[in-house]
Amino acid sequence: VWEKKVRQSCLPRREDNPMVVLVTGAAGFVGTHVSLALKKRGDGVVGIDNFNSYYEVSLKIARQELLAKHGIFVIDADINDAFLLKTVFELVQITHVMHLAAQAGVRYAMENPGSYVQSNIAGLVNIFEICKAANPQPAIVWASSSSVYGLNTKVPFSELDRTDQPASLYAATKKAGEEIAHTYNHIYGLSITGLRFFTVYGPWGRPDMAYFSFTRNILKGKPINIYQGPNNKDLARDFTYIDDIVEGCVASLDTAEKSTGSGGKKTGPAQLRIFNLGNTSPVTVPTLVDILEKYLNVKAKREIVKMPRNGDVPFTHANISAAQTQLQYKPETNLETGLKKFVKWYLSYYGDNTPHESLVAW
Ligand code: NAD
Repeated sequence: VWEKKVRQSCLPRREDNPMVVLVTGAAGFVGTHVSLALKKRGDGVVGIDNFNSYYEVSLKIARQELLAKHGIFVIDADINDAFLLKTVFELVQITHVMHLAAQAGVRYAMENPGSYVQSNIAGLVNIFEICKAANPQPAIVWASSSSVYGLNTKVPFSELDRTDQPASLYAATKKAGEEIAHTYNHIYGLSITGLRFFTVYGPWGRPDMAYFSFTRNILKGKPINIYQGPNNKDLARDFTYIDDIVEGCVASLDTAEKSTGSGGKKTGPAQLRIFNLGNTSPVTVPTLVDILEKYLNVKAKREIVKMPRNGDVPFTHANISAAQTQLQYKPETNLETGLKKFVKWYLSYYGDNTPHESLVAW
């Protein structure tokens, strides 16, 4: 049954250069949207996700059901499962890997550091190992993060800026991933593109992120903590709408060159890229709350608190000129429009059954 579903899921309908994409973290927020976009245009897509309980598993299952309705099969497995991944590569010819599975969230790293090492370092290496051994090798696009800029205060952040001051273990594992990508490209000829996403938000989003948990708490009449950075300055984020991120991911897959390795050996130079995918217009947290209040039609109970040292950084702001030039990336949705769509989705998805507990993370 399992094999049949993988094969069916990977049957491409697109005649002009169809791709067969393995999407890791497919039941996650970004993975769901990217999988749907690829399938919609006719590519073959198979997903993998371990449905971990970092946030509500029911939401991941609902995303999986949505994907199933569109003919996308998500295998319930861990990216560290080498045997399973090898079997998938034997069953179908994967041309591209969109690697999105990771332990996300900066604050949770203080509670469970091991999960970051396990998924973001060991898991990433396993994905690269499987791709290195595959014949032919797929091209890989994977999610790094804007968090690699860490304590850097020179904004907007460009890809050439320093990334040697991570503020959280999450950021450190993403930075380590970029170094690991370099070695697999250098030694084995894997074509690898890293994408530094900037605070992605939208329908089917992540309940641990501030815009989501604020919405939940505002609707329940519960107070929300609004952090302030050094000198009582409001925190700001370069919030990027999910559809814009999806465009950037798909363009990265489309422009990815073939890997040049064979039998685990490099036969020529291979592509290695890194791009910021942001919105280039940071918004402060109080302004985010103003917009939520407007669309929820409820006043928030704001509690202003000094930002604890928990892995957060005071602000993010992307320079996206590299992605603009090389991927024709052009973010089109501003925070007002994007949050309106999120609130609409939230109200229709949860109705009156809003879950009670939530984490807050960026
Ligand atoms: P998400 O948590 O919703 O999705 C990640 C998915 O990966 C989850 O469904 C999880 O169950 C799965 N997963 C985790 N570890 C796994 C493992 N070992 N094996 C198999 N599956 C595993 O997060 P997201 O927001 O969709 O993020 C996608 C990617 O983008 C992640 O790599 C994240 O670090 C990165 N990123 C996200 C943002 C953002 O704002 N959402 C910003 C920067 C970077």
